[in-house]
Amino acid sequence: MTQGPAVEAQSVVKHFGDGPDAVRALDDVSVTVARGEFFTLLGPSGCGKTTLLRCIAGFETPTAGRILLGGRDITDDPPNRRRVNTVFQSYALFPHLTVAQNVAFGLQMLGRPKAEVRATTDRMLALVRLDALADRRPDALSGGQQQRVALARALAPQPEVLLLDEPLSALDLKLRKEMQSELKRLQHETGITFVFVTHDQEEALTMSDRIGVMSAGRLLQVAPPRDIYNRPVNRFVADFIGETNFLPATAHAGQIRLRSGEVLGPTTVSGAITVAIRPEQLRLSDPGDHEAIPATVEGSTYLGTDSHLHLRLPDGSRVVARIPSLPQAEPGPAPGMPVGLRVAPGALQVLED
Ligand code: ATP
Repeated sequence: MTQGPAVEAQSVVKHFGDGPDAVRALDDVSVTVARGEFFTLLGPSGCGKTTLLRCIAGFETPTAGRILLGGRDITDDPPNRRRVNTVFQSYALFPHLTVAQNVAFGLQMLGRPKAEVRATTDRMLALVRLDALADRRPDALSGGQQQRVALARALAPQPEVLLLDEPLSALDLKLRKEMQSELKRLQHETGITFVFVTHDQEEALTMSDRIGVMSAGRLLQVAPPRDIYNRPVNRFVADFIGETNFLPATAHAGQIRLRSGEVLGPTTVSGAITVAIRPEQLRLSDPGDHEAIPATVEGSTYLGTDSHLHLRLPDGSRVVARIPSLPQAEPGPAPGMPVGLRVAPGALQVLED
């Protein structure tokens, strides 16, 4: 058993091409993933998630920096010498092999004894609940079932780390939700470290122990989902994860004020700032509420259980408040209506300009 964290990337840089046209796919990325952790790399298309995963798998060599697995430097090891397996979005199953043969394939390549291959294959098929379909070929399986085969195949050699590159993005929404809980269960039952790549913030928030948010080759923030959501380090993270209102404000003498003077809440910083407030952290109150910010309703969007209320503030800026939808018979706040707006305690995120 090796020592140390499951995976470490130390100051990893990856360039594609040379000279001024080189793409800086990874720009000094350092991150440590703990053993048994469900770690997610989250970011928009092209931010470098796949490149980082490929550096861990050994399909790419970093231009600079090191990759460690269980505390051991594996930067120069070929992929087959790393106890790492990858599950791709395209399941990459062998079409001419049965489900069981697909799962057994990697174990046979490793030269494991026949009896062990059979026992492990059976265990893996039971783990992903495909025992009944062991003799089918991939083209006779649904997308979700094919993804389970790919998972069973990747888990069979008991890698120290399983890398998952957008494994659910080809599935429809319902199946995707099912597979999300399935993946959580598999990770829990096997205890294997998962490094999961997605550009879907909701998927990252629901599945991960910790999330690393990436943008333009950089890792901007690494934290548990609640901290990423409630304490984003900058505007990009706040904007990428969930909906956010950004308001220009000034901080002075312990108070954050709108530029038109109304107090939003307390602070310890000073100067020109931007504050971020989640729509669900805004509460409506009476227009006569002296402690609330006076606002005017501009419109609303029905979302089912909740509605988005679009509001204009005294300084002319606009915000969205998420409020419970009213029963059909009750009139909601109409455009032009004055309301009071309160900010939930602790809900203001200060982003310094
Ligand atoms: P997506 O979600 O779209 O897969 P990503 O976040 O995984 O995106 P990467 O695939 O890691 O992003 O790509 C990061 C950057 O590196 C992009 O600008 C991409 O075009 C570039 N890139 C990736 N692989 C290569 C390559 N083999 N040659 C040249 N450029 C590459």
